[in-house]
Amino acid sequence: MSRIEFRDVRHAYPPPPGQAPVYALKEVSQVWEDGGAYALLGPSGCGKTTLLNIISGLLTPSEGSIRFDERDVTGLPTSERQIAQVFQFPVVYDTMSVFDNLAFPLRNRGMPESRVSQRVTEIAEMLDLSERLGQRASGLTADGKQKISLGRGLVREDVNAILFDEPLTVIDPHLKWQLRSKLKELHQQIGVTMIYVTHDQVEALTFADKVVVMHDGGVVQVGSPVELFNRPRHTFVGYFIGSPGMNILPCSLDRGQPVFANNLLSSGYPVDTDLSGKLEIGIRPEFIRFSDDGIAVEIQKVEDLGRYQVVTVRHESSQIKMLVGEDQAIPSEDPKISFDPDNLRIYCDDWVVESAHA
Ligand code: ADP
Ligand code: MG
Repeated sequence: MSRIEFRDVRHAYPPPPGQAPVYALKEVSQVWEDGGAYALLGPSGCGKTTLLNIISGLLTPSEGSIRFDERDVTGLPTSERQIAQVFQFPVVYDTMSVFDNLAFPLRNRGMPESRVSQRVTEIAEMLDLSERLGQRASGLTADGKQKISLGRGLVREDVNAILFDEPLTVIDPHLKWQLRSKLKELHQQIGVTMIYVTHDQVEALTFADKVVVMHDGGVVQVGSPVELFNRPRHTFVGYFIGSPGMNILPCSLDRGQPVFANNLLSSGYPVDTDLSGKLEIGIRPEFIRFSDDGIAVEIQKVEDLGRYQVVTVRHESSQIKMLVGEDQAIPSEDPKISFDPDNLRIYCDDWVVESAHA
């Protein structure tokens, strides 16, 4: 097992003739601690698979280096990296039995047959494949085949890390939930580094201790689910995480405090007044209340989610979403709202602005 480190890694795929290269990965310097459970979260096209393939050695980055502990592996092929990788779609040998599929990575490395059998039995049990070990893989459904792929990723004990690239895409929703908790459990048992790629925040937040949020070819924040919720460093993290996401509203500054549409607000912390760039405030729907004084709004929509209602309001040209408890009344006349100062953040060119006195 190893600590995996990216140093100034960038990657551009070969561009079409006559065009300049576009970086699919802009610049990533990142440490994956040995034994961590990581999720790599971001929308489609942000560079997640590219990053994963650089770890496993399927891709050599255009720039930068990768280290496993102190060893530079940048030029090493996949076969010399001891990485298991599970892809989005099942990769199985249709003509082989389920048992032989699971045994393949072990036999390939010369493991004695008695040990192979023991290990395959264990893994099959975890994945509810025990009854099917003798069957041909071709007879299984897409779910079943993907479980074999997962099993092949999990069966080796000598790996530096296991990489999962949106592995539950083809799995039905109920089983998805089961398998995800199983992976988490497994991580706790075997303690090997796992990096789980997904574009689904619920999947990321339930699986990982550390979530690495990617946006447009770069890592914008690494943190625990709570950190990402409470202190988004970038506006993208604010609105990608949370449901609904953070409200991002235009603002200006008056003596270090934000002004939104002529309303002077308090952010709980003063910032430098000479910031230049696009200024915005970020406030989560959870931290907005109806109040006697405050910002006058017009109510546009109320969605009842049981314990909560999502209320969409408008102030001038800005739309704002708020979460209101089921027991709280929604004013029918002259509604006004206010923002909790302790949970209001200021962003300049999409990056959070820290306190001037920090
Ligand atoms: P994700 O896994 O987050 O959806 P990818 O890493 O697959 O993102 O892709 C990142 C960017 O690189 C995208 O713009 C994609 O179109 C581009 N890309 C991915 N693979 C290739 C390739 N083999 N050749 C050229 N461009 C690619
Ligand atoms: Mg991908």
